[in-house]
Amino acid sequence: MPPARVFRVALDMPLKRLFDYLPPDPTFFAQPVEPGMRVRVPFGRQRLVGVVMSSADSSDVPQERLKSILEVLDPSPVLDAAALELLGWAAEYYHHPIGEVLASALPKALRLGVKAAASEERWTATLMGREACTRGEPRRAPKQRELLTHLVQHEGTTAEALNEAVPNWRDAARSLTDRGWIDSADIPIASIEKPVVVRTPGPELREEQRTAVEAVRGALGHFGAFVLHGVTGSGKTEVYLRLVERVLEQGRRALVLVPEIGLTPQLVGRFRDRFDTPMAVLHSALTDTERLMAWRAAFTGRARIVLGTRSAVFAPVPNLGIIIVDEEHDSSFKQHEGGFRYSARDLAVVRAQRADVPVVLGSATPALETLHNVGGGRYVRLPLQHRAGQAEPPRMALVDLRTNAGHAGVSTPAIQAIERHLRDDGQVLVFLNRRGYAPTLLCTSCGWIAPCEECDARLTVHMSAGRLRCHHCGADSALPSRCPQCGFAVKPVGQGTERIEEGLTTLFPGVPLVRLDRDVVRRRGDMEEVMRRMASGEARILVGTQMVTKGHDFPNVTLVVVLNADQGLFSTDFRAPERLAQTVVQVAGRAGRGTKPGEVLIQTEFPDHPLLLSLLTEGYEGFARTALTERAQASWPPFSRLAAVRDSAKTAESALEFLTEARKLVGVPPRGLRLLGPVPAAMSKRAGRYHAQLLIEGTDRSSLHHFLDSWLPAVEQLQSARRVRWALDVDPIELF
Ligand code: ADP
Ligand code: ZN
Ligand code: ZN
Repeated sequence: MPPARVFRVALDMPLKRLFDYLPPDPTFFAQPVEPGMRVRVPFGRQRLVGVVMSSADSSDVPQERLKSILEVLDPSPVLDAAALELLGWAAEYYHHPIGEVLASALPKALRLGVKAAASEERWTATLMGREACTRGEPRRAPKQRELLTHLVQHEGTTAEALNEAVPNWRDAARSLTDRGWIDSADIPIASIEKPVVVRTPGPELREEQRTAVEAVRGALGHFGAFVLHGVTGSGKTEVYLRLVERVLEQGRRALVLVPEIGLTPQLVGRFRDRFDTPMAVLHSALTDTERLMAWRAAFTGRARIVLGTRSAVFAPVPNLGIIIVDEEHDSSFKQHEGGFRYSARDLAVVRAQRADVPVVLGSATPALETLHNVGGGRYVRLPLQHRAGQAEPPRMALVDLRTNAGHAGVSTPAIQAIERHLRDDGQVLVFLNRRGYAPTLLCTSCGWIAPCEECDARLTVHMSAGRLRCHHCGADSALPSRCPQCGFAVKPVGQGTERIEEGLTTLFPGVPLVRLDRDVVRRRGDMEEVMRRMASGEARILVGTQMVTKGHDFPNVTLVVVLNADQGLFSTDFRAPERLAQTVVQVAGRAGRGTKPGEVLIQTEFPDHPLLLSLLTEGYEGFARTALTERAQASWPPFSRLAAVRDSAKTAESALEFLTEARKLVGVPPRGLRLLGPVPAAMSKRAGRYHAQLLIEGTDRSSLHHFLDSWLPAVEQLQSARRVRWALDVDPIELF
């Protein structure tokens, strides 16, 4: 084969195309250029880092206008053929520019051109440094002293190990390097692989767990999609651990995806406790350097287990053996902001399919789409119905808020139940999905309500902070004591967790209570502190938002009160009931995990609502059946396919104008396709911009995607597109 004449390069730009470049100067770069390698290329007056996608014999660009690749950054591809193919698939499916899709798969440092290298940054103390250390220097810089001492004792410590041993050591390292006391070098990573050791054998599996483990083990080596359906505490994590163990035994690696908030130290701890093998942990709170190091650990194959949130679905995992998605229903797997909007859960299935490995989707409340796939025989459901050490599921009951007034948002039956459970030495969890003190500040004289100037929303009262805050744009102002319009006194109306905390403190004086919401949890460790106080029994009541529903174990909680179930029942979003049911089941899962049976009270003004009734009498599966029937009748997903074009603009008119023109391009929609809208968003104004949306519904995937393929290029050309910010969301999970 003659050498390629041009290379097609993907650049991180909002353009759906590749860019052609001539080969680099052979005197400097004798090595072959392959797809998946990063290259530095000239682009206008800039120099950009791109990824070679393919090569070709010729270009449509005239020869004299083609420029050469300036530099080849990688000795071997950073994205292998499988990765490139998956990313290419994603770019096509989500109709998004390939360059931006690739960018979301690579840590920032790599996008800027640093080495992907299989080398490790190692630090040592110099001879001078050792002498200084013996003299007890440096005396006045404790961090430097700590670092120097550590390096004298541990020669050739990796940067990664230093992060753990001497947190925030970089500044100290700089000072010590300047004095010539320590030194660093990039050492190639030893290719000797550490054998995987199972540190502690797990407990003996229960029947159902064994069945689940065997089913998936039987599929190792080829694709299969499994839904591990079990409430929290039913032993799902134990099943994951056993599966990972087998995969590691086979010399392969595991990719474990967890929701944003599910990546708790406890979960990471359980993997570390079980396996003595390097792990790469990838999540959104990492610094750029930490992310690069974790990515490298995955890329070089040193990490046998890669554990991470959403974007870790793109992490390089050589010799992948299994993908596990924990809490697969969780909305944080969907990227629904910014440019490239994708579902990590769905991509995990696609990746597993292409890699020919099994994928396990675990949840107490699988998404309706997932259950529909089970119903259609595409996924295999593996039920875990029993909780370890306890057979009884919690008893659920509704409390009619219309006939049970109570006190400050807590009904009389709920107050009585709380008393009863506290008396019996139980703990109580009170759930309300609204933080702050009250959602409204009202003037009782003139009717003024504190509005957000930037949003179609009210400001939330934060009493202890003395602030009025917008939960949509972050606007923050002092809490007024008088109405700015008439000067009369104002009062907070409605309940948030802060007010519930106050009410319960009055109702149950002397009973220690903790609150868990985003206002309480501000720093690392805050959450752990709340957990510790619940676990030790020091606190008896926990009041919290959605945060309490995820992954924590409260074995002594015997009563759960859901203060308001109604937000989910009458929303414009057809997915709202599903989210409500998931929340209720997840919160209920916190009750009675010890030896005592649990009780769940759900407060509502609509105790006859069919979805609530099916949830109560037949559990989540009963609810899912009812809800899927409703979806089928309305032909919502999974009985159709959706895409949303969303935009925002400085005026409501411009936001609608662009979408209206986009719709006009269609004329009469092709068969099997419906266009809904454009309509302003339910909360049209947010952070000073007006939002609108146009929905496209296709009877099946291919009709929807054919349509998008032909329509989007024209939409991109519209003049009005320049006056708005717009994005396409394929398989949107939140509608407004
Ligand atoms: P989930 O992931 O579904 O919440 P876990 O795997 O965390 O469930 O299990 C809940 C608790 O029960 C954990 O403390 C776990 O160690 C324990 N457990 C799980 N399976 C067994 C078993 N077969 N025998 C004894 N204890 C178990
Ligand atoms: Zn007033
Ligand atoms: Zn606002």
